[in-house]
Amino acid sequence: MILIAGGAGYIGSHINKLLNERGYQTVIFDSLVYGHREFVKWGEFVLGDLSDIEQIRLAFKEYPVSAVMYFAAFAYVGESVEDPQKYYINNVANTLNILKVMKEFNVDSFVFSSTCATYGNPVEVPITEDHPQNPINPYGQSKLMVEKILSDYSNAYGLKSVALRYFNAAGADPEQEIGEWHNPETHLIPLVLDAAIGRRENIKVFGTDYDTPDKTCIRDYIHVTDLADAHILALEYLLNGGKSDVFNLGNGSGFSVKDVIETAREVTGREIVDIASPRRAGDPAVLVGSARKANEILGWQPKYSELRKIVETAWDWHQKLNRGFHEGKDK
Ligand code: UDP
Repeated sequence: MILIAGGAGYIGSHINKLLNERGYQTVIFDSLVYGHREFVKWGEFVLGDLSDIEQIRLAFKEYPVSAVMYFAAFAYVGESVEDPQKYYINNVANTLNILKVMKEFNVDSFVFSSTCATYGNPVEVPITEDHPQNPINPYGQSKLMVEKILSDYSNAYGLKSVALRYFNAAGADPEQEIGEWHNPETHLIPLVLDAAIGRRENIKVFGTDYDTPDKTCIRDYIHVTDLADAHILALEYLLNGGKSDVFNLGNGSGFSVKDVIETAREVTGREIVDIASPRRAGDPAVLVGSARKANEILGWQPKYSELRKIVETAWDWHQKLNRGFHEGKDK
């Protein structure tokens, strides 16, 4: 059975769906601080917090866990700057708890959701896995710390792990059973779709003076179902005896903020007002990842490499969410 820590969140719930479709049994361990009980549509559910090691032990006693996938981190970059303690306690210390319980129960396969934020400002793009890691905020630091801990645990205890460094996760389950649902929402695509649907008046373009062709930031948007696929390949790689490793997960191509807004106009057919705004602190001009290693070693090939397809699935989901999927629950 695969234990998914944070499986009620955006990315974890998509992995849970795909694991179940592929015949795996899953148990979701989630505090529901940011996750949604409605997203746990597959597998067993344990309400628990990784800060409480006894709760983790109870889950391992109740279910025959053979591997762990981890998505339980806090992920608001701005908040991590204002309240780093919250990030180091949850993202690092609480992760140590689950690793400790894995050791106690002789579970030795761990798939970790890391981030391109561990690289900091890129010195060259596309970013490969051996690019220097100099995170510029506590969120990125916390993920890098866990990567280093995982490397030490692999050497010392044989606890094998794959750290997956995501670029910009986007889009939604094409069957619209789950999707992106954050509160507060800070990500570009859902905010642009909020403007399309009339939940906000406009979208602010953070920075229109970057050294890029249209002067706005370029990011590598990767569909959440493609991410899910990569996680399962990583899991199977470990279960088949693969050694601990790290992989980028991106499309290898970038789109600007203006590209995203224009694509959303085409997909939705709605008017979207954009407003040139100051740069957001800490945003590099271009973040694009090389996915070559994941392709070569895991055999991963993203299926949603067109921005349009990513935005289409996000739009389908966004309309469903705003039709009252969440029955007025503002979360
Ligand atoms: N962005 C923007 N307006 C917004 C939110 C984001 O212009 O209201 C830009 C942001 O500056 C970045 C890109 O959109 O260049 C993607 O931002 P997001 O927060 O979605 O992801 P990040 O790259 O920070 O992980």
